[in-house]
Amino acid sequence: MNSKKKIEIKGLTLSELEQYFLSIGEKKFRASQVFNWLYNNLVTKFEDMGTLPKGLRKKLNYDFTLKTLTLKEVQNSTLSETKKFLFSTQDDYSIETVLIPGGDRNTLCISTQVGCPLDCKFCATGVMGFKRNLTIGEIVDQYFLTAKEFGKNFISNIVFMGMGEPLINFQNTLGALDIFTSQHNNRISRNRITVSTSGIPDQIRALADSPYRIKLALSLHSAFDDVRSKIMPVNKRFPLADVLDAVRYYSKITDTRITFEYIMLKGINDREEDIRALTKICRSLPSKINVIPFNSIAHMSPEGISQELEPTSKVDIETFVSKLRDNYITVMVRDTQGDDIAAACGQLATKNIKLT
Ligand code: SAH
Ligand code: SF4
Repeated sequence: MNSKKKIEIKGLTLSELEQYFLSIGEKKFRASQVFNWLYNNLVTKFEDMGTLPKGLRKKLNYDFTLKTLTLKEVQNSTLSETKKFLFSTQDDYSIETVLIPGGDRNTLCISTQVGCPLDCKFCATGVMGFKRNLTIGEIVDQYFLTAKEFGKNFISNIVFMGMGEPLINFQNTLGALDIFTSQHNNRISRNRITVSTSGIPDQIRALADSPYRIKLALSLHSAFDDVRSKIMPVNKRFPLADVLDAVRYYSKITDTRITFEYIMLKGINDREEDIRALTKICRSLPSKINVIPFNSIAHMSPEGISQELEPTSKVDIETFVSKLRDNYITVMVRDTQGDDIAAACGQLATKNIKLT
């Protein structure tokens, strides 16, 4: 009986796969061939990798597995074109991925963890708790498996805004970025990838120093430490000044504009003083604000302060936004697509975390 644990091949970067081939006495270019089969041709079996000798296909099948996620269900929103994909992992966890079509821009929102340990009070994933990090293969296959359903060129943008905090699953997030931006596959340009973080300063700096230079979004949600700490416990560990220093560094090194995500919470962060403080922050670095209407997480039956959070009304959001614009701040207001299937931001959480 062979009890050898196979390695997930989609967890390897191109250079790691090159090392593997060298280690078994093969030529380096085999790695590019395999990448081409995996990510351009989207094969699901080693035996389908036609340009490789049969023996080598067998050897790969012996050392590696191609299995990561299984698509279980696709839910369609009746209010918009949004679709939510439910995937199961090999160890029977379920995770969610959301496709938000928008004319010439079709965005896939991917997850990096099963749940999230950071416990933000407005977020369904936070309420669900943390189970484990996703592997590189599980992160990238949310894209490649949906690309297989919809055609390779359909998805134009990827945002790391699904379940979990990408920067505490840092190595795997970097590995996924390596695969997405690799020259050897159906490459996605760095301008079309956004990583969203709640703000982990050391990793923001490390991401800036990495070769990927993708766009960065910071979940700001309040310009004041005391308020932010109440709704985002991670702020107690990494106060705003440190996080803002790190994003300033990111913006400078990568020459990109930072997006500040800002969920509008009635009476909590929609006051006059919030406009002043936000304006001050935005003026201190190349940035824009993405205002997000608060999506209900009532489907998770949350407790404590989470229960008390209410959305700012549409009219008040408009006033807030126009006052910021009067201060020459760039502000976008995010659509709340997919609300009816709990596929909007922060609503991602699978009730039955384990499928069995
Ligand atoms: N952990 C990362 C990325 C995943 S959360 C982060 O926090 O940035 C992705 C986005 O959804 C974040 O901006 C988050 O603040 C937002 N979000 C979370 N809960 C939400 C809710 N109930 N309504 C609207 N947006 C929410
Ligand atoms: Fe985690 Fe982001 Fe949700 Fe906060 S908002 S709990 S960091 S997924």
